[in-house]
Amino acid sequence: MTAAYLDLSEKELHQRADQAYEIYRSCKVCPHACEVDRTNGETGFCGQEDTLHISSSVQHFGEEPPLVGSNGVGNLFVTACNLRCDYCQNYQISQEWSEKTKGTKSETEESYQKTASAMLRLQEDGVHFIGWVSPSHVVPGLLKSLSLAREKGLRLPIIYNTNSYDAIETLKLLEGVVDIYLPDLKYADHEMARQLSHIKSYPEFSRQAALEMFRQVGPLSIDDDGLAKKGVLVRHLVLPGQLTSTWETLCFVALEMSASVPLSLMSQYRPVHKASSTLDRAITRDEYDQAIAWANELGFESLFLQSLESKVHNLPDFSSPNNPFPLDSTRNSLNV
Ligand code: SF4
Repeated sequence: MTAAYLDLSEKELHQRADQAYEIYRSCKVCPHACEVDRTNGETGFCGQEDTLHISSSVQHFGEEPPLVGSNGVGNLFVTACNLRCDYCQNYQISQEWSEKTKGTKSETEESYQKTASAMLRLQEDGVHFIGWVSPSHVVPGLLKSLSLAREKGLRLPIIYNTNSYDAIETLKLLEGVVDIYLPDLKYADHEMARQLSHIKSYPEFSRQAALEMFRQVGPLSIDDDGLAKKGVLVRHLVLPGQLTSTWETLCFVALEMSASVPLSLMSQYRPVHKASSTLDRAITRDEYDQAIAWANELGFESLFLQSLESKVHNLPDFSSPNNPFPLDSTRNSLNV
């Protein structure tokens, strides 16, 4: 596997990171477009300045099989988020983080060095990919870290694992850098997004973002060993009692992207954190079967499914940052 960013010179990648960093000065890194100066003590919706906080960096086996291979993904779980999902299973690090947001200039530089070192450590552990998890609000910091890591020998492809609330201009800076995009398309309905994740215009922004990712890398391709090479794999979390949103999301992917884009239908919803009374249960077998039937009807060529009983449903515990996931958190797959 050759990482896309290795086709850029070290200087080009460095310049790309510098260009991205400039966006922090009047932040429009994500669609909230808060226009605060994150380089100068201000914070917006995500609450983060320019120091990069990573809650956990781990060899992870809970992603879809072409990403896991034999040695897993080296995931960096970013602190904070640009969504506020009431039911977030990572709420300990996405919403209840307590890190000091602002470092001195040297602490900020050090945070990029530390993140670079974490990526290099994961490479030494033998993972197949580096995964950036919930990266949308810190892309400039991650690019700075990648540039440093590449200079010190990082060679692994990058997975961009996102809630899809991404700004197009930010994604454009990732062209030729990110190999694999994992956009989770959550809602097809504005009001649902506002009520459950406290954000505006999610359907428009997330769909534009997914189309931009698809333009950059196309559908996910897989090598002879079953390992992902490059492309987009779309995820969708099926929510209890919200199948209309599932249907509309699957239609968007099949008809406006392509049915050749692999689809991962996630059944792992559990009512945690501040889940509302309308979402106070797991999904039923019938709901999941309906979602699968629709995916087949729409002609998806590759589906990744989860067993309703799988241990992947065990919640992560980020109070154990070195090992927040259950050991047997694997997914089942089905190709159709
Ligand atoms: S990343 Fe998004 S939420 Fe955070 S300050 Fe910038 S525009 Fe606002």
